[in-house]
Amino acid sequence: MLYSYSRIKRFEKCPLAYRFEYIDKVETEEFDTIEAFMGSLVHESMDVFYAEARSGKIMPHDSLLSLYADLWKEKIHPGVVINSRDLAEEDYQNAGSKCLTDYYNHYSPFDHSEVIGTEIKVFVDLLGDGKYKFIGYVDRLDRAHHGGYEIHDYKTGGSVPSKKQAESDRQLALYELGIRQMRKDAGDVELIWHYLRHDREIRSKKSASDLDSLKTGLVSAINIIEKATKDDFFPEKRTNLCKWCAYQQICMQQKKAPARQTRLSKYLDPPQDRYYEIETL
Ligand code: SF4
Repeated sequence: MLYSYSRIKRFEKCPLAYRFEYIDKVETEEFDTIEAFMGSLVHESMDVFYAEARSGKIMPHDSLLSLYADLWKEKIHPGVVINSRDLAEEDYQNAGSKCLTDYYNHYSPFDHSEVIGTEIKVFVDLLGDGKYKFIGYVDRLDRAHHGGYEIHDYKTGGSVPSKKQAESDRQLALYELGIRQMRKDAGDVELIWHYLRHDREIRSKKSASDLDSLKTGLVSAINIIEKATKDDFFPEKRTNLCKWCAYQQICMQQKKAPARQTRLSKYLDPPQDRYYEIETL
């Protein structure tokens, strides 16, 4: 089985949603939260910008904003959901424009490092035995002027974590494992999170023991998922994140439907000893 970081996260946030997505492969109406929609367009705009930058052409700031506005117009669809009562579509669109403007002003003239590529695919074989494999996509991979690599990640969420919280994020460290497996000359690798709504970046370097602990934690997370799959045990986990879940309707329908009650009874009232503990790294 080839895992992705988002697959692991899905299970940890709600095993039932994991089941809908990865086991039952439930098809939902086209659904996006407006936050995710805005984030995807900011990412896409940055990808186009850096593709041109790699060929030696720096896109002017107003062209970058036009590109983003055009993408918004082209891709907005009725399945984009706004959960906030106080904000309208244009507030989110403007927030994305501000992310791009702040980033542009901060990093212009964009000569801080050499861009190797965007959306770089990485593979990780955690233990080298083919049993625990991951695939992922790095937002941007750069070669630093002093040598070594930089793994960049763009965040468009509303808050900035502390450095310690950012460093507890496993995703970029997982990508570092992939870069180290794929590029034996990797040397120094720096992880860089860009919190675009706040024009802030957080940088971190992992030690060999950090990466070993990450491997151990991810192997354990995969073992838990595989046991849940074998036992067909995917309890729901209700939190305030449910309003951003694409499976809300089916989740509520299944709770009400007597015909599915037998199969679902273990989700609704599971014996305590069958709850799985998810390790937090
Ligand atoms: S609505 Fe909530 S409990 Fe139901 S599947 Fe989604 S995240 Fe899980």
